[in-house]
Amino acid sequence: MIGGLPLFLWGFCVSTVMLWHGTFFINSLAHVYGSVRYRTPDQSRNNWWLALLTLGEGWHNNHHHFQSSANQGFFWWEVDGSYCVLRLLHRFHLVWDLRTPPAHVLDDRPGRRRAPAVSRGWRHGHDPCVRGPTEG
Ligand SMILES: [Zn+2]
Repeated sequence: MIGGLPLFLWGFCVSTVMLWHGTFFINSLAHVYGSVRYRTPDQSRNNWWLALLTLGEGWHNNHHHFQSSANQGFFWWEVDGSYCVLRLLHRFHLVWDLRTPPAHVLDDRPGRRRAPAVSRGWRHGHDPCVRGPTEG
């Protein structure tokens, strides 16, 4: 058997336990620490350092606001490593129908009329996961 017991321990047991801890980490800390962009019925928050540690899961208030979105970082400055991987897989036609939040969902913030990412064309060709931010 290729890899044997070490592959089983590291490739399945350790990685699964790390995944659990990442999930529990977000489900507890991202409801306590961070900022609130959208009014949601929970105490979810966006937290940049949790997002860096968990490849984008720290944008938890965004996630609770629009849960069917493939990306959790809604704006270009919200680093979302998981979404970058999904976009790469999409480019190779390994995943499809990636859903992103529509403009009215992004704009649904107290005191906001228009999301800055939309006005800068973020959703229409300025995705840093696909192209550089200066490319059109
Ligand atoms: Zn939550």
